[in-house]
Formats: sequence, C-alpha cells, structure tokens
Amino acid sequence: MSSETEVVTYEVRGPVAVITMNRPDFRNAQNSKMTYALDAAFVRAVEDAAVKVIVLAGNGKHFSAGHDIGTPGRDHDAHYENKAALWWDHVDRTGGDQRFARETEVYLGMCRRWREIPKPTIAMVQGACIAGGLMLAWVCDLIVCSDDAFFSDPVVRMGIPGVEYFAHPWVMGPRAAKEFLFTGDRFGAAQAKEWGMVNRVVPRAELEAETIALAEKIATMPQFGLALTKKAVNQAEDLMGMRSGMDSVFGLHHFAHAHNAEVGADSLGGMNAKTMKTAAAEQNGSK
Ligand code: ZN
Repeated sequence: MSSETEVVTYEVRGPVAVITMNRPDFRNAQNSKMTYALDAAFVRAVEDAAVKVIVLAGNGKHFSAGHDIGTPGRDHDAHYENKAALWWDHVDRTGGDQRFARETEVYLGMCRRWREIPKPTIAMVQGACIAGGLMLAWVCDLIVCSDDAFFSDPVVRMGIPGVEYFAHPWVMGPRAAKEFLFTGDRFGAAQAKEWGMVNRVVPRAELEAETIALAEKIATMPQFGLALTKKAVNQAEDLMGMRSGMDSVFGLHHFAHAHNAEVGADSLGGMNAKTMKTAAAEQNGSK
C-alpha cells in the first residue's frame, strides 16, 4: 500500500542520491504535494556535497502516468509556496489568470528549475511514462529505461498542443514529435532509443543495477567539471531554440486551455483520466 504521507522517498547510496516517486497505487501521478516533495529532495541532494549524481525513479510498475487529473489526492486547488517563479498564488484567482499562475509555477517553472540542477541527473524509467511523466524524464540529463517502458503524450485529445514543458521537437526531432503528438500513440523503448530520446534500454530486471552503475561511473568525475559540462550542453540546447520555443508554445498551450474553457465544460476539453483511456482504446480498437 502506498503511503500518501511520503509521496517521495530519498536514499543515498554512496555518491548517488536516489529520489523515488512513491504513489504506486496511482502510477505515480504527480500532484502538487509530490511536486514540492520532489523539489525538497532535489535541494537536499544538491546541498549534500557527497552526492555526485542524482537518480529519479518511480516506485512500482510505472515511472509516471503524468499529472494528477483524477486521483483522490488531486490537489490542484491547494495553496503552495511559489518556488520556481515569482508570481502570485493561483488559489484566489479565476480563469486564465489562475491557470497561468499555477502552470507557470508547478509545471514549466519547476521543470526548468530541475533541468538546471547543478549535478547530473538520470531518469530511471519503467512502464508508463506519459504526458507529465515525460516532463520529469526529459528534465533529467540522461534517461535509462527498461524494455517494458512506453511513452506517450495524448493531450492533443484534449485539444492541447502537448504538455507544458514542450521539449518534444528537441528530444526526438520535429518529425517524430509530430507523429508522437498527432497520434497520441504509445511508443516503446526501442522506438524511443531510435529517436535518441533515451540513452539506454535494458532488461527490466537489470534497470536498477545498470542505472546505478552508470551513475557511479559518472560520479568519479570532478563535481565542478560535471556542473560546468551540464551547463555547457544545456546552454547549447537553449541556443538551438529550446527555451524560447517553449515560451512561445506555453502561450499556445494556455490559449488551448482558455478555448476549451470558453466553448466547453473545462480547460481540459471535458476529458479526465478515465475518458482519455476510453478514447484511446476506441482509437486503437481496430488494431
Ligand atoms: Zn496545462
């Protein structure tokens, strides 16, 4: 049984900190409680000089099913302390004002904050890595996944052009990004490797050992050298347009939320975790 009091666990193994999302009963759906627990764990790993490399993992069969849009622990109306962005709290706001405040902080802002963690990070991915789950894997420097891992961003079904941290064209290339988004299909580990979206695909039973071994190998490098190298590659990626591209797409994303709210029931086009699943099953019904 998962503990809703400890939604993220923290463990140090030699030079490696292992930060684990711990809502396995909900496929590690990310609510705000988890977001801030993750942030606290990352800060702890950054501040501990003995930690050289950080591994981000998900407890259970799946890495992450994405943002929490339907579990009993969904807390999108709860107050939180802004950490990633200097913006007002979303709780007492309405409409686009509320959505923009919230998503600037907990989605785009937090993902950018974590991408800039000055120590190498490795996502250790098994099972589902869907929508918001992609954002967590993509902000890590390396991705090691098991052969049972699968990836998808089905939010186009909600009329929304991809998740908030719009890294798709940079992490898999523009043409793959279009197929990935247009179909909403699940793509397996081998396909992700072919796109260059993941570093390594390993058997499920070896995922943890392989990931830790890679982390330990990296950990033998000088800490400051690793930090500068990470910054160098991230700067190059931003010069390839990722940061400004994401800013412009964040506007389209919020236009889509606003359009949905204007013409329909809610900003998600009336979809929730259950209807998304049903619609996908219908789409693939003839296969
Ligand atoms: Zn959104």
